[in-house]
Amino acid sequence: MPVVMFSEVAGCVPGGVNVGIILGGDGSVAVIDTGLNESNAKKTLKTIAAELNRPVTRILTTHAHADHFGGNATVVKRTGADVWAPPVDEAVLRYPILQPSLLFAGADPPPDLRGGFLLADASPVDHVITESRIEFEGVAIDVVPLYGHSPGQIGFLVDGIFFCADVVLPESVLAKYRIPYLYSVRDHLQALDRAETIEHRQVVPGHGAPSENILPAVALNRALVLDVLEKVPELCREPKTAESVFHAVLEAFDAPITDAPVYYLLHPTIHAFLSELATRGEVVGEVVDRRMVWRRAKGAREAGQPVETGG
Ligand SMILES: [Zn+2]
Repeated sequence: MPVVMFSEVAGCVPGGVNVGIILGGDGSVAVIDTGLNESNAKKTLKTIAAELNRPVTRILTTHAHADHFGGNATVVKRTGADVWAPPVDEAVLRYPILQPSLLFAGADPPPDLRGGFLLADASPVDHVITESRIEFEGVAIDVVPLYGHSPGQIGFLVDGIFFCADVVLPESVLAKYRIPYLYSVRDHLQALDRAETIEHRQVVPGHGAPSENILPAVALNRALVLDVLEKVPELCREPKTAESVFHAVLEAFDAPITDAPVYYLLHPTIHAFLSELATRGEVVGEVVDRRMVWRRAKGAREAGQPVETGG
């Protein structure tokens, strides 16, 4: 895939994960994410060398999912680039075993969860991004908090080009998996609201084609989350274990679960919904007969009933 430039300084190398490109004033390049693995990283570096003939000196990581930072180790080895990453997620870059471990209830993950899609090569981290604005060789970059898809996911706004990471997933991905992976429902809904307010000429998502307008993708992704939020309390009319709620949601949304990695990717997601609904007082979790059981809270609003706004 060739480099596509959207402005004088910002572009991307399209791919399974779109790799963002920022051209520094000194002739060097910063990349935003590096793809899944060594082979992706090598291809990206080859494209940049062939088309831009500039050295890569920085990696800006949006979030610590293996498909976004798995190429970091290779890029660092070949270029000596320094790695910048957001708080919390930066720990996973340095200790990638945390990702499959988080999916497997925090325990030592079994062999099925140690594949390349979930377990990346470790990446060094040279700078933890806590600033709201950073700079790369004379180019100003706004840091946009987009927490929720991961604990610390951030996007970058450069010269009107919005690199929005996985705050929105393309229709094709949503159609395939039905329910997108989430760490925090509350943060994610806030991130979608924030993404809507970012003025941009072009949006470059982590996956799928860049476009000029993020709003349709935000609407689609938000609607899906709201659908699940409405469905879960209904399913908890009959008290259920989280495992049974999970199964009922998968059935209700006709989500295809074909292997252990896909199963475990969605497992925390259902807990993210239970956690948010418990915070809202719509479901209650309690231990009954040595099981953690989730039920609809008494007096919780019925699906379709408007939210009480109070006085
Ligand atoms: Zn992701």
